[in-house]
Order: sequence, then C-alpha cells, then structure tokens
Amino acid sequence: MKKYNKLFLILISILLLNCSKSSTDDGGNNNPTPDNQTVDKSANLLATGASSSDILGNANFDNLLIEAAFVEGFRPTAEAMDEFVTFLSERTFKQNISIQYKQLESPDEETLTLQEIADLESENRTVYNDGNTLAIYIYFADAPSDDDDEEEGLVTLGAVYRNTSMVIYEKTIKSLAGRSLTITTADVEIATLNHEFGHLFGLVNLGLTPVNDHEDPEAENHCSVEGCLMRAELQFGGIAGKSHQLDSKDNILVPGCTLSGNSVLKILEHKTSKNMPTVDLDAECILDLQSNGGK
Ligand SMILES: [Zn+2]
Ligand SMILES: [Zn+2]
Repeated sequence: MKKYNKLFLILISILLLNCSKSSTDDGGNNNPTPDNQTVDKSANLLATGASSSDILGNANFDNLLIEAAFVEGFRPTAEAMDEFVTFLSERTFKQNISIQYKQLESPDEETLTLQEIADLESENRTVYNDGNTLAIYIYFADAPSDDDDEEEGLVTLGAVYRNTSMVIYEKTIKSLAGRSLTITTADVEIATLNHEFGHLFGLVNLGLTPVNDHEDPEAENHCSVEGCLMRAELQFGGIAGKSHQLDSKDNILVPGCTLSGNSVLKILEHKTSKNMPTVDLDAECILDLQSNGGK
C-alpha cells in the first residue's frame, strides 16, 4: 500500500512539474492543495519558522542545501558565506551544509516588493527539499527594498518571508558598508545572513516557543537580551503588530523581519571598537535552539 502511494505521488509530481512550468505566478489563484500535489515544493512554501526543528535537528534531514541566487555583480563575499556556514554548523546537527551558487540576470527594477521577490523565487529557484536534504533559497538582490525610506534613514538589509526563503539586499549592504571606514561588506553580510537565518530557526517565538520568555515586548519576534544577534536593535522596519506569517488565505507576503541598515552599522561599529567578534546569539536564544533539536 505504501509503495503504491509513493509511486502515485511520484507520478502526480511529474505531471505537476510539467504543468507548472508555464506558471510564473506565485499561485494566487491556486486552491489550497494538500501535499498530494506539488509535493516537492509545498514543504518549502510554509510560514517563516515553520521548519524550525527540521532545520535544527537531523531527524528528518541530514543535509542542508542552500541555493545562493545572486544577480550578476552582487555575489556575496566568500568570507561571509564561509562564516555563515560555520554559524549554521555550530547551531544545527546537519552533517553536510553546502552552497550552490546561481547567477541570475537583473530583473531591472529600481526597487523590489516582497511579492516581486517571491515571484522571482518561483521563476528561478531550483532546489527544494529532496529525500534527507532540506533546501533553503537566498536571493541576493541588486535593488533595494520597496519599503526603504532613505530620508528616514530606513534601509532594509534582509528579510525572511517563508520557512526556507530569504532575501538579502546586497546592493544596500554594499553601499552601507561603503560609508564606513571600519566595517566591511562581509561584516554586514554576516550579521544580516545570521540574523535572518535566526528567524528561520524560529527565533524569537516565531515557530519556536522560548524556554524562558525573552521576546522584546516592543519588537515582536526579537530578543530582549542586550548584545544578542536577534536583538530588536538589529531590527527596524515598522512591521510591529503585523503578522509575521505568510497569509495563505490572501496569499499576502509579510516579512518575518526586516533588518535596518543604520542599526546594524551602529552595532557592528560598537563591536569593532571593542575588538569583539561578530554579533552572536545570547544564551537564551541558544537555549531555545537546543530545546527544539539544535545545538
Ligand atoms: Zn529580525
Ligand atoms: Zn537572544
């Protein structure tokens, strides 16, 4: 019976893969489908934080495959990606963590909305969960977030919008780092990647219930502990009070987090002047990860 079901699912998947090629839309009109359809993709289209235990532990997935899709000229630094992989191997039980780079053409947009980013993901993403490999997609954009307000000093460095999807505003990161004498592009990339990935881990209270309450009452889904990577100071974007989940009914994408440029710069400069290592998670956040299968 099981074998028969599996075969059936594979056949359905092949049919759907062929059909879905013509659809570049994020599926706004699609009926909610149980995972007997598009079985490979559905596991990667959940709300931010929904895969916390799968990302942290290795009960279901031993391997982590990250597709780093970048617009030509906006590839992240090797230094940052190495540090990022180190961070992931320090906090998860994954046996293998690999990065697959994919160069993309520029979408030729002045700014990008989250929906446009999700649409680009639908067009370009090639890695989805497969067997015991869990797949993550990170898009390194050549345009700033549509929500940025430079006059207000609000520039967004990164955002998460689904359980395995993240955007890094690489152009914004480069120009921000370019304004500092002490902070490098790699410094900002590392802080952004690690912070946003912290949300995919389920931090704070985003799919992962805190062991001790340390969620900042002023900033939903961020940590109240001073100096923590998931601290609210790192976050800025006027999203407080909004849902951090993907609203499947209306199919409206809401960022799980937007990361402000100026506050990141301030924190990094503070760290550098004190000769401290890059911003890391505090004990409370680490305890949460450990409570859900992480290290
Ligand atoms: Zn955040
Ligand atoms: Zn924390």
